[in-house]
Amino acid sequence: MSEVLFDSGEHKVLLFSDMVAGDAGVQCTQFFIYHDHHAAMFDPGGQLTFQPLQMAMNRICPMKELDYVVASHQDPDIISSLDRWLMYSNAQILISRLWERFLPHLVPDYMDHQGESRIIAIPDQGMDIQLGDSIIKALPAHFLHSVGNFSFYDPLSRILFSGDVGASILNGEPADPVEDFAAHLPRMQGFHERYMGSNRACRLWANMVRGLDVEMIVPQHGRPFVGKTIINQFLDWFAELQCGIDLIDQSNYQLP
Ligand code: FE
Repeated sequence: MSEVLFDSGEHKVLLFSDMVAGDAGVQCTQFFIYHDHHAAMFDPGGQLTFQPLQMAMNRICPMKELDYVVASHQDPDIISSLDRWLMYSNAQILISRLWERFLPHLVPDYMDHQGESRIIAIPDQGMDIQLGDSIIKALPAHFLHSVGNFSFYDPLSRILFSGDVGASILNGEPADPVEDFAAHLPRMQGFHERYMGSNRACRLWANMVRGLDVEMIVPQHGRPFVGKTIINQFLDWFAELQCGIDLIDQSNYQLP
């Protein structure tokens, strides 16, 4: 099932949030932009999601219109379906330069060197991804949580796809927008404290995002943040968050 987040006719933004059935794996959201016969799929996931996602996408456009499969980082729930996308589409695969050389390990021998020729490295400083006559901005999000990590901003819809930043645990509920930030916090706090690298990265990312006109933040797991008020609450919290190496001491490094 897909949800339309933005539709101006020529430019559509959709998300798919219920492709992983039951408790087969953690709930994941895939993000999709279609602009005048040019498509990009963000964080398509693994083998669990490939087939339902392909079917959902085919209702919007043919596979041959998929220009890019874009990965925020290297994890199994992000890009482990790489071999399928290489086989069934002509899309280029975009990922951090830190992971470009590792991804071909997901590509079987019989696909020759497709992994190398179709995987494009995103430089550390980010880039503009050309999608037809529109652009999508790949924004640095390193150490949040992966060492080579990106968020993606669509200036036409003003939607920020933030990957694991802002991710929350759903417990089977629908991925409705967050309404009460304080009530939502317990679903995010523990995850961010353990998975995010350090406050320094959180604060620098939040500062960068404040320079953009953002209407919606869509994380890869859980509920989105819609509207300036809740987005600012989220950025204020994230910029102050102590996490990762901020919280460790010798007690975390004892011989087991
Ligand atoms: Fe991850």
